[in-house]
Amino acid sequence: MMKKVKNSIVLLLVLVMSLVFSGCSAKDIGQNKISDDQLQVHFISVGQGDSELIKLPTGENVLIDSGPPSCRDTLIKYLKDKGVKEINMAITTHPHTDHIGCMKDIFETFKVDNIMRPDCDYDSLIYTNFLYSIEENKINEIIPQPGYTFDEGDAHFEVLGPLKKYDDCNDMSVVVMMTYGENKFLFTGDMQSDAEKDLINAGCDLNADVLKVGHHGSNTSSCEEFLDKVTPSIAVIEVGADNEYNLPSDKTIARIAQNGATVYRTDKSGNIVICSNGKKLTVVTDDSTEGFINNVLFGTDSDEAASSQ
Ligand SMILES: [Zn+2]
Repeated sequence: MMKKVKNSIVLLLVLVMSLVFSGCSAKDIGQNKISDDQLQVHFISVGQGDSELIKLPTGENVLIDSGPPSCRDTLIKYLKDKGVKEINMAITTHPHTDHIGCMKDIFETFKVDNIMRPDCDYDSLIYTNFLYSIEENKINEIIPQPGYTFDEGDAHFEVLGPLKKYDDCNDMSVVVMMTYGENKFLFTGDMQSDAEKDLINAGCDLNADVLKVGHHGSNTSSCEEFLDKVTPSIAVIEVGADNEYNLPSDKTIARIAQNGATVYRTDKSGNIVICSNGKKLTVVTDDSTEGFINNVLFGTDSDEAASSQ
């Protein structure tokens, strides 16, 4: 009997302590974690480069880009920690090293069913090895035309670009619009203004809730006309801290802010995860330097955006 009472007291104490130390009201606790029954889009902090993991609640995984070679261990550990075993679709937006850096390692570590890449000429040892490893690992290769679509779980993907052959490899980036319920995410790789304007002139529907900002926030991307078509609520910049290219550009950030989006940056916030239940978006940022988790809820069909903190 005494043991039972003692156990109850311990349980009560644990409950009280967890509430105190979480620093949240009971209402906030449910929002303060990444929900497995929602779509998750992880903008992974890989230093100066891009990598996004899209995790469906039904178990499918899509990986867009794989960061620079220096993030190999971090990226593989991150994916394993998230329970990834199989990648249904891997996309390399374009052949630059900060996007394909670890793809060969990804092929050798996980079961990858499909690899999508643009038809782009580029000369580097990493790119040559990447192309060779597609064959070696017998991965189904897709070089998409604009309008190519595929589905993973309840998420629908459409390739919008590149619309033509560009001399600049950045403009050859595979541009993908993902629709999940009422939420739309636009992934742009390192697309620059020329390709952005071509998408507008082609009459593409570019409107999205979330924009993966092109080319690490460079001033050569995210032109005003493009932002006016996308009108995102959330813009994510994947960029390395104190990078040698001085990215992102202050001008780009000002344009995005002027357009009305909240900007998140991996160099400031670490990993950024956006969860969607098909209607609403929750942003969870893990600022490892300050050790806090920040949550913001975004409504999609009204201005009910509200901060829980
Ligand atoms: Zn890049």
